[in-house]
Amino acid sequence: MSSTEATNALSFADLGLSASLLKTLTDIGYETPSPIQAECIPVLLQGRDLIGQAQTGTGKTAAFALPLMEQIDVKLTKPQALVLTPTRELAIQVAEALQSYAKNLPGFHVLPIYGGQSYTIQLKQLSRGAHIVVGTPGRVMDHIERKTLNLDNLKTLVLDEADEMLRMGFIDDVEWILERTPAQHQTALFSATMPEQIRRVAQKYLVEPREIKIKSATATVAAIRQVYWQVSGMHKLDALTRILEVEENFDAAIIFVRTKNSTVELADKLAARGYAAAALSGDLNQQMRERVIEQLKSGALDIVVATDVAARGIDVPRVSHVVNYDIPYDTEAYVHRIGRTGRAGRTGNAILFVAPREVSMLRSIERATRSPIAPLTLPSRADVTNKRVADFKASVAEVLNAEGLDFFANIVSQIAEEQNVSAEEVAGALAMMAQKGKPLQIPGEDPVARPMPAGDSRRPSSFAERERKPRSDEGRPRFEDRASKPRTESSSDSRPRFEDKPRRAAPVGDMVRYRIDVGRDHGVQVKDIVGAIANEAGIESRFIGRIALYDESSTIELPAGMPKEADNALKRTRVRGVPINMRPDEGRPDGAVERKFDGERNADGERSFKKKKFGDR
Ligand code: AMP
Repeated sequence: MSSTEATNALSFADLGLSASLLKTLTDIGYETPSPIQAECIPVLLQGRDLIGQAQTGTGKTAAFALPLMEQIDVKLTKPQALVLTPTRELAIQVAEALQSYAKNLPGFHVLPIYGGQSYTIQLKQLSRGAHIVVGTPGRVMDHIERKTLNLDNLKTLVLDEADEMLRMGFIDDVEWILERTPAQHQTALFSATMPEQIRRVAQKYLVEPREIKIKSATATVAAIRQVYWQVSGMHKLDALTRILEVEENFDAAIIFVRTKNSTVELADKLAARGYAAAALSGDLNQQMRERVIEQLKSGALDIVVATDVAARGIDVPRVSHVVNYDIPYDTEAYVHRIGRTGRAGRTGNAILFVAPREVSMLRSIERATRSPIAPLTLPSRADVTNKRVADFKASVAEVLNAEGLDFFANIVSQIAEEQNVSAEEVAGALAMMAQKGKPLQIPGEDPVARPMPAGDSRRPSSFAERERKPRSDEGRPRFEDRASKPRTESSSDSRPRFEDKPRRAAPVGDMVRYRIDVGRDHGVQVKDIVGAIANEAGIESRFIGRIALYDESSTIELPAGMPKEADNALKRTRVRGVPINMRPDEGRPDGAVERKFDGERNADGERSFKKKKFGDR
């Protein structure tokens, strides 16, 4: 039995986690432990020291974070665990992960501390008391020296990405801190690689550590075309639909995500964009699972969004594509996933989405499969247009061969005569009408993709939003203040942010953000949306907040507490003939800069849409 099969047989409950934490994991949609989690969690729960060789993407954060959560005594408001990370971005990210695992632990407090942030804020937060501190070595040292960080109650120390800390020249600081920790404590060291100096630190400061390494089995995957897209410049969902639209020989796809919540979210979003898509997760019973697979076989479904466990053993020859929407935990999982395509002698296609921090996992996969994975250039708007035109021509050609065209050709002649135009012009009008929700010609320019070097860019986060210096706007959507002119189309750029975490509607001050199912690919402009909302719901234009256009959807901010009638009217509204299906936005795209609704500031001009005043109805 391979290690993946062996570890996947385990559940989180088997690892010895408490009922409360198990409930949290179910809530956030984790189905099974990743291989590194299955091996590390029991060891850490026993209190043993550990060396974990694992990189980003393997689930290593939860591998140490979950056991940490089990040790915390919430009543004791002193640091009981310290996690050292090489960068502030990682500190923030780890703190966020810990906070998300503390869902059912009221009163739990985790504090990220890092250089560049004001001491005053950190001192205030430290004096309020944190159960876990996550920080960069330099700033942690400072606080120990100033006696503002007391480690007397420390039970566990985690060194995360130890090799990065070495590479960035922090290893002396790390040792300095290690020497100042209480004699009795557990130490866990995680590192993607094991350079000599890290081994030396481990030998000196860890006591009989268990060594855990993610195995990487080699396997050949000859018949499958493998490509990757480095996530940048565009939201993953927009990129996915664009890629699927122009992929040659697309028949059916299995899309892999990490959590069962994501299977449902993504399947719903794809269905809203017109794909025959369904979710497949461990939440489905055997009968439902078989039904989904049957539907995929018969063509009733074209896309199944699945977790690794749920997709095990699927053998559907028409699966032409496997999309690794979330990167797999290890190379074995990758090989297993892509084995769902290229079956029964057909050629298969495997597309891998790689976030900048996951590049090292991509390289591991290439090594393990002994095959290079080529970068995929995101199809441009022109590519999509060409594909749509080609499909349109093909469908017209098909109808041209059909019987009984004479009746319709006669109508065209009549129109041409009555309108005094050529038959070509009439055909043009008909082609325009035939576009429905998908225009053949997509207006606007493509966002410029900005590839980011490996290890350079960390996942953005809400801690980051609150605590960091303002960041540059690169690679993120520009939000337009509707009142400001000239109004240009916003970029669809958006890096994903916490896509794996379920989120609620995101109110902005006294505004609420909604998502609608029309975007630039429908030929929609901001003014169309404003016009429709103002007319249908009688909301004066100045009460309409920011609008961000994406390829296939848009977001719009409207005042909180809208009257039911306005709400109902908006549900029925169409823009350019497409039902907008307005609903509270499921989350904020990366880079959304929160701005409180400011009626005064927006009030200048722009009253042309005013019909009935909001609230007058
Ligand atoms: P990491 O390798 O720690 O950076 O984790 C990468 C991503 O995997 C994070 O978004 C985690 O929330 C997610 N993740 C970690 N463990 C699991 C799990 N057992 N099931 C589903 N998602 C997970």
